[in-house]
Amino acid sequence: MKKNWNGFAKKSIQERLEFVKSQALTSMEAQESLEQNENLSIAVADQLSENVVGTFSLPYSVVPEVLVNGQEYTVPYVTEEPSVVAAASFASKIIKRAGGFTAQVHQRQMIGQVALYQVPDRDKACQAILSQKAELLEQANQAYPSIVKRGGGARGLTVEKISGDADFLVVYLHVDTQEAMGANMLNTMLEALKPSLEALSQGQSLMGILSNYATDSLVTATCRIAFRYLSRQKDEARELAEKMVLASQFAQADPYRAATHNKGIFNGIDALLIATGNDWRAIEAGAHAYASHDGVYRGLSRWTMDLETEELIGEMTMPMPVATKGGSIGLNPRVVLSNELLGHPSAKELAQIIVSIGLAQNFAALKALVSTGIQHGHMKLQAKSLALLAGATEAEVPKLVESLIAEKTFNLEKAQTLLKKFRS
Ligand code: NDP
Repeated sequence: MKKNWNGFAKKSIQERLEFVKSQALTSMEAQESLEQNENLSIAVADQLSENVVGTFSLPYSVVPEVLVNGQEYTVPYVTEEPSVVAAASFASKIIKRAGGFTAQVHQRQMIGQVALYQVPDRDKACQAILSQKAELLEQANQAYPSIVKRGGGARGLTVEKISGDADFLVVYLHVDTQEAMGANMLNTMLEALKPSLEALSQGQSLMGILSNYATDSLVTATCRIAFRYLSRQKDEARELAEKMVLASQFAQADPYRAATHNKGIFNGIDALLIATGNDWRAIEAGAHAYASHDGVYRGLSRWTMDLETEELIGEMTMPMPVATKGGSIGLNPRVVLSNELLGHPSAKELAQIIVSIGLAQNFAALKALVSTGIQHGHMKLQAKSLALLAGATEAEVPKLVESLIAEKTFNLEKAQTLLKKFRS
C-alpha cells in the first residue's frame, strides 16, 4: 500500500531511500542503482562527449505527489539550487489537493528548415517547390526510413519568403519524430532535400537544420485552486489570489520581470529535463522564443481568478518536444532510473508532466513573492550552503546554521568566523 509522503524532507537519506523502496516505484535493479548512487561511468562519458577527463555530479531529488490528468507521479529533480525542490513539493501537494493538473498535448511534430539564398524569382521558386511537395516528403522519408517504420515521418512542407538584410526563401519540413526529439532525424532529412530544393529554386542552400522553436509541439497545463487552499483565513486567501493574479499581469507587462518569472518556471522544468536526459538548452531556446511570440517577451504562465467558484486558475502553454528515446537517454543510469520512477511515460506524457511541474514551480514562487517574500524560505538553505562552504562538518552544520540565521545578515566570512569560534 502507498504510504503518505508527509515528513519525507525531514528523513535521513537512508530513511528516504527505504521509503522510496517501500513505495515500490522501481524495479529491484533500479532501486539498487539508486541505493548505490550509481552514476554515469567515465567510459560512457567518454563516448558522449569529447576531451573527457571526468564526470560531474549534482543533487538528485524527488518531488512527490504530482497529480497530472488523474495520475500521480514521483518526479525526479536534478538541481543544485536550494529551495527549488521544497517549493515544488509544497506546490504539488496543494495542487493535488485542489484536483491536480490537467494537461494536453496539442500536436507533436518537429520543424526543420532549409534556407535558400540568391533565388532569382522567389515566387516562381515557391510554386515550383510546392508543386513537388509529395515527392519532397517522400525523399525526406527515404533519407530516414526507420522513423517511418516506427509510425512517424515527414508530414508537411511549407515555404516562406523571409527578408532581413538579405532575401531568403525558407522551406519548412514538419516531421513526426515519435519518441525522439528528432534533431538528427530532421538534420538528415533536410540535408537530403538540399540538392532538390536548389534545383527547384535555382538558388543556393545556406543550411538545413532543425528549429528549436517547436511551435508544432505545444503543450498546455492548467490547474484550478480553490482559494481555501491558499490560506485558512478566508480574507487572506482571497487577497493572496488577487496578488498572484497581479504578479502574473506584471510578468505579462514588464520583460524585466518576465525573464525572472520564466527563470523560476525553468527551475522546475530544467530539473526534470536533466533528470530525464533531455536537451534542456533546446527546450529553453524554444520556450524563450515562444515567450515573445506576439512580439513582446512575456511571462509564460498566466494566473486568473474565477470569482464565482472562488478559484485561482493557472495556465501555461509552451513548446515541449521532449524525448524518451535517443540521445544519451539509454546510456545514463540516472536517466534510466528517472524513467522508472515516472512509470516509463511516453514522450507526450512526459511533456505534460514537465509543463505541469513548471506551473507548480511558478505557483510556489508567486505565492512566496507576494506574501512572505522569497528570502524567507531561502535563508536557512543559504545559511546551510555557507556553512558547508566554510568547511563545517555534518555535526557542526546545524549549530552554525542556527547562529548564522540569528545574525540576520550573513556571508561566507561570517560563517568562517563563527566556525573558528566554535572550534576554539
Ligand atoms: P537520436 O539521433 O539518438 O535519434 C533517435 C534514436 O532513437 C534513433 O536511433 C532511433 O532509432 C531511436 N528510437 C528508438 N525507439 C524510438 C521511437 N519509438 N521513436 C523514435 N526514435 C526511436 O536522437 P535525436 O535525433 O532525437 O537527437 C537528439 C540529440 O541531438 C540530443 O542529444 C541533442 O542534444 C542533439 N542535437 C540537438 C540539436 C538542436 O537542438 N538544435 C542539434 C543537433 C543535435 P532508429 O534510428 O532505428 O529509428
